[in-house]
Amino acid sequence: MLTTDIIIKLLAPKPRVIITIHRGPDGDAIGSGLGWMHILANAGIHATVIAPDAYPNFLKWMPGNEHIIVYESERDKAEKAIGEAELIFCLDFNSPARMGNLAEAITSANKPMVVVDHHQQPDDFAQGYYIDEQASSTAEMIYRLTEMLNWEMHINHQAAMCLYTGIVTDTGSFRYVSVSPQVLRIAASLMEKGIDHTRIYREVFDSNTLDQLKLKGFALAEKLNVIHEAGTAYIALTEKELKRFNFQKGDTEGLVNYALSIKGVGVAAFFSESEGKVKISLRSKADYDVNELARKHFNGGGHVNAAGGMRIDTMKNTINSFKEIVMEEAEKIKASI
Ligand code: 5GP
Ligand code: MN
Repeated sequence: MLTTDIIIKLLAPKPRVIITIHRGPDGDAIGSGLGWMHILANAGIHATVIAPDAYPNFLKWMPGNEHIIVYESERDKAEKAIGEAELIFCLDFNSPARMGNLAEAITSANKPMVVVDHHQQPDDFAQGYYIDEQASSTAEMIYRLTEMLNWEMHINHQAAMCLYTGIVTDTGSFRYVSVSPQVLRIAASLMEKGIDHTRIYREVFDSNTLDQLKLKGFALAEKLNVIHEAGTAYIALTEKELKRFNFQKGDTEGLVNYALSIKGVGVAAFFSESEGKVKISLRSKADYDVNELARKHFNGGGHVNAAGGMRIDTMKNTINSFKEIVMEEAEKIKASI
């Protein structure tokens, strides 16, 4: 059966829906999740978004944000909603592990699941899959899915704001290779719903705190390293350094892109330390595949040009291991620049 047919069939009885997103939600996870929630509501379907954990303040302004249940801090409420649900949508991730602590509650609920996602190599855990690795964002895919269901009339102003935010954040403001004429047409139709696109930019990109800018300044002045022989740059911030600048979730967003913007650099990494774990963000400029690197060495995944992962180790060991890996890959990285 075609994906759309499966989804039409599952939605026909107007089931109670849960929409889940990945841990460490980004603009596309929140934007596509809330966008889909509004569209379903306009189609007469009750939907609740559950996020595994907290997300940055610059994503907390989207219409419907107040209805998101954060599993980490509202476990009982989330479990009640999961218990009442008849259908679960998994947006912007393709493996249960990406839900962190929420994974157990969702998978053990034994409800039909549908995945809508643009990451590579999906796990086999759901009844329906709408996967497009070429898509710019899950928000773009939610728009296309809505069209396939002939539900365009359900994309109201609120849904349009959320979907537009997902597209903007996952395309680096319409910069990445994933941007196609179709993406721009979708953005145009969302704009035609009367959204204030300048407000979206302001909320997402012009809402820095002073601490956040100072942390950025410190990271660029003192913590940016270039491994010239491997066409690689990285920034690493320890827990102590993050504390010094009163780190809040989202404060280091985009730092990795500064490392990548250096001429002659093809791969960039950002390391941050928290409670004995080191989280790594990886970016590449051309066809060097950081998804593969994240999968192979850092317990993670993502896309060709943007991926992430984690190590339970010290910062020092993690960086040393990263240096060894990129030195081994040096020829490939440099050839990609
Ligand atoms: P970021 O570096 O912005 O946290 O993530 C970049 C991309 O990598 C996103 O598409 C995100 O979904 C993916 N990603 C980040 N961390 C992980 C991880 O721990 N596991 C997997 N599978 N993907 C990740
Ligand atoms: Mn995404």
